[in-house]
Amino acid sequence: MLLTITSTTAPATDLGYLLHKNPFRAHAFGLTFGKAHVFYPEAESDRCTAALLLDVDPIGLVRGRKGPAGEGRTLEQYVNDRPYVASSFLSVAIAEVFGTALSGRSKERPELASRELPLKARLSVLPCGGGEAFLRRLFEPLGYEVSAQQHALDEKNGDWGPSRYFTVTITGTKRLCDLLTHLYVLVPVLDDDKHYWVGDDEVDKLVRRGEGWLATHPEREAIARRYLKHQRSLARDALERLMADELPAADELQAAHAQEEAEIEKRISLNEQRIGTVIAALKQSGAKRVLDLGCGEGQLVRALLKEKSFDEIVGVDVSHRALEIASDRLRLEQMPEKQRERIKLFQGSLMYRDRRLTGYEAAAVVEVIEHLEPPRLAAFERAVFEFARPGTVIVTTPNAEYNVKFENLPAGRFRHKDHRFEWSRAEFEAWARGIADRFKYSVRFVAVGPEDAAVGPPTQMAMFAR
Ligand code: SAH
Repeated sequence: MLLTITSTTAPATDLGYLLHKNPFRAHAFGLTFGKAHVFYPEAESDRCTAALLLDVDPIGLVRGRKGPAGEGRTLEQYVNDRPYVASSFLSVAIAEVFGTALSGRSKERPELASRELPLKARLSVLPCGGGEAFLRRLFEPLGYEVSAQQHALDEKNGDWGPSRYFTVTITGTKRLCDLLTHLYVLVPVLDDDKHYWVGDDEVDKLVRRGEGWLATHPEREAIARRYLKHQRSLARDALERLMADELPAADELQAAHAQEEAEIEKRISLNEQRIGTVIAALKQSGAKRVLDLGCGEGQLVRALLKEKSFDEIVGVDVSHRALEIASDRLRLEQMPEKQRERIKLFQGSLMYRDRRLTGYEAAAVVEVIEHLEPPRLAAFERAVFEFARPGTVIVTTPNAEYNVKFENLPAGRFRHKDHRFEWSRAEFEAWARGIADRFKYSVRFVAVGPEDAAVGPPTQMAMFAR
């Protein structure tokens, strides 16, 4: 795993002073997980590049690991991508090897450390959960130009498709400490690795390193969530502290932050209301065996599990990653067998006829249709209503009319960047009635969340029954 940082401000070899590493020597450092090497592939006065090479020792990693007692050592523990990719190990190495630079200090060139310089950082292999789009959403708002080259899963077998690995270059006029800080926080966010324990000191780290930029970053929620391994309460805690830490002299800004928090809370409670309404509808249908189609990270599955009336709960999603997270959060592996037997999670696409989805009494499709390309909706409709054909189908989607009520949502924008459309109540009802007609279901509509007299509720729900 290789990170290079290039400066082109003459005398460019001052980069050595900023990093506290002499450009004309090679340096090596022992770390708990392996070795770090720093060297300069080029050191001219108009261009100087520092390289940080990590040599992660996968065997040492497993030995040194404090896992739960009795945990078996699987092949995956030894054979994995960790030695070859940028991950939280890179962040640890940055803090250990470039600690002074990370904190913005320089003994010999203090003035240079506080200056913005044109800098370029290149990561040889960066796993990007969320793909290039998410990569850009992380770095571009911070003022970087991003270029990314995605690698194939297998060079010889192109038809296996792309991998989640990218070679990434970010360029920007930045203080070196800012560049290092952004990498320190955002590399593990992109990697989104699950093998890692997170506690309160990680919240402290995020709050410390996020100071001055994270509270106003448009992806702050996703960043906090992923950095803190999807532990929602920790992420909320971190964001609240960051926002509080940033309390500016100007009251105006302060009010804006408070409002952002309120906005987050509001959304959280809307989410809870949605789950509550869906569960009530499923219970009312009398179903015992239910599908959660497009289950994502498994929030509804988890809530369904708490309800004794459901004997079998099946979560389906096209995203492996989402299912992994769902499985982690549900703690499927530690679950007592009797509970475990009630749950199935599997990967599948709602665009295709799938025999595994037949024979269920009810299905929930919560906040999924708006992620589908409109021309492909027809395939979804047949897969669910013609082939899987559960007795009851519950579909929820945003009510576009309500968007005017979200003050921080510019007019004409969707609530989520991945939404392909958002429908008004009339549009959703017309679509749902068309389905009921064609596939011989009845349909009723239910408002979810606080209903506004003019624009209706934030979420709309259709209940189809055969
Ligand atoms: N129901 C969840 C997730 C909603 S996000 C919740 O309410 O929290 C939409 C989900 O639909 C994502 O997890 C996405 O991976 C999934 N999805 C998108 N297209 C899909 C398809 N064709 N087949 C199955 N799942 C799909």
